[in-house]
Amino acid sequence: MELKGKRVLVVGMGKSGLAAARFLHGRGAVVTISDSRPATVLSAEIEAMLEAGVAVETGGHGLLTFRRQDLLVVSPGVPVDTPELQQTQAFGVPIIGEVELASQFLRGKVLGITGSNGKTTTTTLLGEILKHGGLAAQVGGNIGLPVVEMIDGITDDGWSVLELSSFQLETIDTFAPKIAVVLNITPDHLDRHGTFENYAAAKTRITENQTADDFLVLNAEDKPTQMVAAKTRAQIYWFSPRRPIKQGAFVHGESILFLPCEGGKAEPVMPVSEIPLVGVHNVENVLAAVCAARLAGVSAEKIREAVRAFKAVDHRLQFVAEINGVKYYNDSKATNVDATAKALAAFDGNVRLILGGKDKGSDYTLLADLLKSRVACVYTIGAAAEKIESQLNGMVPIQSAKTLDAAVQRASADASAGDVVLLAPACASFDQFTSYEHRGRTFVALVRAMEAK
Ligand code: ADP
Repeated sequence: MELKGKRVLVVGMGKSGLAAARFLHGRGAVVTISDSRPATVLSAEIEAMLEAGVAVETGGHGLLTFRRQDLLVVSPGVPVDTPELQQTQAFGVPIIGEVELASQFLRGKVLGITGSNGKTTTTTLLGEILKHGGLAAQVGGNIGLPVVEMIDGITDDGWSVLELSSFQLETIDTFAPKIAVVLNITPDHLDRHGTFENYAAAKTRITENQTADDFLVLNAEDKPTQMVAAKTRAQIYWFSPRRPIKQGAFVHGESILFLPCEGGKAEPVMPVSEIPLVGVHNVENVLAAVCAARLAGVSAEKIREAVRAFKAVDHRLQFVAEINGVKYYNDSKATNVDATAKALAAFDGNVRLILGGKDKGSDYTLLADLLKSRVACVYTIGAAAEKIESQLNGMVPIQSAKTLDAAVQRASADASAGDVVLLAPACASFDQFTSYEHRGRTFVALVRAMEAK
């Protein structure tokens, strides 16, 4: 892609938009960046962009800004059905995202990971496995570095391990990972994608440019993910924590095995008991990582060593402390119902569950069975509290705590030895916190304060 002298408009001044604008400017493009948020909340970003030589528009998208551009680069936070974008597309101007832009310059091979839940855990784990296996590897995308900032970080024989969200995949064009992983597809972000079908279609795009020389790793126990299999040209490797499969990774008895090809010989990788993370969902993440890492050429032995040394990423079912026999877990990243279900399934019972935050159009009744079998009491917080309370009414004892602080105090006052206090809120955080990390850190601080007493 030739960028010199091209007029490019970057839409959205988030982390990846800013990085894309800098990259484009560096390659000689004439760059404008536009954001609908007011200048008052973007002062640092505006200054950085002006200093870099990029023209800036804030407080809305002027129609004229979108005229006479050669290319639009859209941030994942900006819906593709925004009227200005649709009009521009109607004029035949290509619209791509930062991942597509970067992929046209990125050297080496890409290992792309998507799914509703488990992306960060699996991506981080795969980065560690590949490095431990002696391969040159860098990690980024939806976590850490935007992909345009990874371009100089790798040579032709290296791997870029990329976490990819549905929003990032919505705006690819030619992007084709050598190895793609789809962990699971469960309802999430329906406020943005509209329907589950649209959301699943966005995730499926990870494989649309793969060829028969590429690999696609899929979850054999997740029905919507299996639909992806029907749309691919790549070689499929399955993973399952429940049953042997023809080609891929699975649990047999107490061990994880990898079967490199149909009719081949299964090779032992490691005992399940050596996985240092809780929950079956994390066994799934490890199985997906085993498939992808073997396909990248890492030995079973190196995979085993790297998995054993891995620590839960913060805010993902992270053990915080045990106080008077009560265990506290921070799963602030459980921002949808499925992640909360997986967290609950990791415990046998006596869970005091903190639920709530900003609703994403979710159906909390999907938790009914797990609530009945595992939860002693639900403590609701935030804007979604009323909806949760009305949907779960009569299924489980519920206390309306309103704030995280009150929820932690009440749950710990109610808890007795052997109980678990779990923050797995099934909601976004933006009603009361700046991010899920902020919510998780607040929870950890509240628990630590009790521990210090
Ligand atoms: P993502 O990057 O896709 O949001 P994370 O690894 O950050 O994934 O985990 C998000 C949430 O989902 C956490 O609450 C975590 O405990 C839970 N989780 C992790 N892996 C899985 C999985 N394979 N299936 C369901 N939930 C999972």
